[in-house]
Amino acid sequence: MANVNRRALELGTQRSVIRELFEFGKKRMEEVGAENVFDFSIGNPSVPAPDTVGETAVRLLKETDPVLLHGYTSAQGDQKVREKIASSIRRRFNYPVRPESLYMSTGAAGALCGCLYGLLNPGEEVIVFAPFFPEYRVFIEGAGGVMKLIPADIEAFQIDFERFENALSPNTKAVLINSPNNPSGAVYSEDTIRRLSKMRQEKSREYGQVIYLISDEPYREIAYDGVEVPWLPSIYKNTIVGSSYSKTLSLPGERIGYLLIPSELDDFENVVAAANCANRILGFVNAPSLMQLVAARCCAEKTDVGYYDRNRKLLYESLVKYGYTCVKPEGAFYLWMKAPVDDEREFTTKAKDEEQILIVPGRNFGCTGWVRIAYCVAYETIQNALPGFERLAKQYGL
Ligand code: PLP
Repeated sequence: MANVNRRALELGTQRSVIRELFEFGKKRMEEVGAENVFDFSIGNPSVPAPDTVGETAVRLLKETDPVLLHGYTSAQGDQKVREKIASSIRRRFNYPVRPESLYMSTGAAGALCGCLYGLLNPGEEVIVFAPFFPEYRVFIEGAGGVMKLIPADIEAFQIDFERFENALSPNTKAVLINSPNNPSGAVYSEDTIRRLSKMRQEKSREYGQVIYLISDEPYREIAYDGVEVPWLPSIYKNTIVGSSYSKTLSLPGERIGYLLIPSELDDFENVVAAANCANRILGFVNAPSLMQLVAARCCAEKTDVGYYDRNRKLLYESLVKYGYTCVKPEGAFYLWMKAPVDDEREFTTKAKDEEQILIVPGRNFGCTGWVRIAYCVAYETIQNALPGFERLAKQYGL
């Protein structure tokens, strides 16, 4: 037996198929040319960060005392940064947030880990709905918790409430949701959120303990056709929000986001103190200081949603025309498609080997028989990949 932390080793040896496909794609591009490989594997934004982001960073680098600029900030994040972000949240959601409720983090991943390591005692459960972002298992189990997965509602990709109700138990510490969703592209409706909240509230009362709702929302700003993404803290008071600028400002490599712990949360002070310490346990110290300042100055900027929308329309309309069954994406930049064969890995392997199309099998998101197509790529990549999708559809007799 390896003489290392067994949990870390076990979680680490579960392959990240997305990463493997991404690495395969890079290698294949070197062999056959980038224009001949259609990599829809990973959620790296293809829209560049707004110009003001780069300009702001350059100005900060030129005009700020470097000792201050590159120094440690307070663990929770620079006070002025948190004031600016709190005020932008107040404005956007008409929701009262004080800077004390914000914790600047290393992206949404850092925010979620800070929250989960802060909340969970060994063996406590976090409910997650399939299809789900696979890193959740690493975050939850890494923090000593147990991930309880609810199978997908494959009709509307909202929530299977019967299964949810059956899964709630006195051991449930939190429910973790993600909307707009990676990988389904679905946005949970206000009705879904209200039903979810009501059920949780009833069970909280029955068990005499809080069940927190953790809302993972790095894609909040990427929604189409006027779809509203409900603001959860206004609906369920025990909501904690993890967010980031990775997708909405196209800054995934810069690792900047925040955790919002509303002051009306039950046990607010202890949750903040535990999240604070969780960030120490994880060794984050503070979120990158230059990026905190950039985020504060640019938090009102928006990514070019029209760019993703154009990709979405071309891809969705074409695939449906070829006979595939697809969920029409309402948000994020993923298209969720039913594989034309029960074992979706047969289809993704064929797509890779015969058409150089890289897409991710749904079982990696807890939902077999489906595949994820990340359309945060150049428009031309979609145009050039479509004949391959059409040939595959014909092979399967769609
Ligand atoms: N949550 C979801 C649903 C994601 O898709 C991602 C990244 O792809 C993350 C969290 C992590 O985001 P970040 O890069 O801001 O840590």
